[in-house]
Amino acid sequence: DLNPSALMRQTLLGMSRNDQLRSVVEAAPVSREVVRRFVGGVSDQDVIGVATELVDTRRLVTIDYLGEDTVDPVMAERTRDAYVGLLQALSEAGLTADGTVEVSLKLSALGQALGSDGNAIALENARVICQAAANAGTTVTLDAEDHTTTDLTLSVLRDLRQDWPWVGAVLQSYLYRTEQDCRDLATEGSRVRLCKGTYKEPESVAFQDKADVDRSFVRCLKILMEGPGYPMVASHDPRIVEIATVLADKAQREPDTFEFQMLLGIRPEEQLRLAATGARMRVYVPYGEQWYGYLMRRMAERPANLAFFLRGLATR
Ligand code: FAD
Repeated sequence: DLNPSALMRQTLLGMSRNDQLRSVVEAAPVSREVVRRFVGGVSDQDVIGVATELVDTRRLVTIDYLGEDTVDPVMAERTRDAYVGLLQALSEAGLTADGTVEVSLKLSALGQALGSDGNAIALENARVICQAAANAGTTVTLDAEDHTTTDLTLSVLRDLRQDWPWVGAVLQSYLYRTEQDCRDLATEGSRVRLCKGTYKEPESVAFQDKADVDRSFVRCLKILMEGPGYPMVASHDPRIVEIATVLADKAQREPDTFEFQMLLGIRPEEQLRLAATGARMRVYVPYGEQWYGYLMRRMAERPANLAFFLRGLATR
């Protein structure tokens, strides 16, 4: 029952896992330019340049290091060390004060999936990163991954928050459980990023219909906005942005008590418009050698991005 866009999505997700294709795309000289729209480069130096430009245009930043698939504890440590090095470099560049530039991390990259010890390994690595963030005067947000990891990730969050209450959570409105998770996490100072969710999830745990995911997003956002926490509204959807503004108004929130978040390269004019209204606007910037899978997943989400990408390839 595949419609054309579902077929396109499946093809692109297949491409995201195809190593041969990866080398073709990487080798094309144009890739650099096109990739630059969605990815903050490969090195610390690259991403610091991108972050500086964003900060200079009144935007806040969260940086995600794209590491290799973590298949053993050594790779998890490598990812951890990459974050620690990045945080130090960001601090030296004067970008981390008051959380202006923070980091986002995936516990899977820190070892969460490495068998029965995985969660403990990920927690230990995350602790090291949180300490480095604390030293730099900034914060950390734990990205949400597929639903099989939600309980484990929220338990790591609780552990980390005992020492660093500013550690941010991410909740996905496509999951049935998320309204309750929002209630649980809507506590004083609690930083919660709400997004729709990006993984392919079964009907047993997640809404399948876009309209249902959107309705759930609004219910969840209402809980977060009415609570005493710090909601982070991660969506490019114009209706969600508008509803967030209305809900924040209704809850009599000051502009510095919540923020909008969007991905690098997506609706940049809207990012600037929101920032100019005095809203806090944070841009999620992925970077690192492993940009290919990230880029293909973004293409799968939106064929318009693919057209942009292919146009870039064709004009060379
Ligand atoms: P969609 O439902 O995809 O689109 C709705 C409307 O938004 C579109 O009709 C269009 O008007 C507009 N729009 C969307 N994309 C574009 C575009 N490329 N260009 C122009 N207009 C567009 N997911 C997770 O599972 N875990 C995470 O930790 C996570 N972190 C995220 C962090 C940030 C900062 C952001 C922005 C997203 C994150 N996501 C995460 C991804 C998220 O779950 C969605 O998959 C993704 O944001 C797409 O949903 P959407 O709300 O932006 O809009």
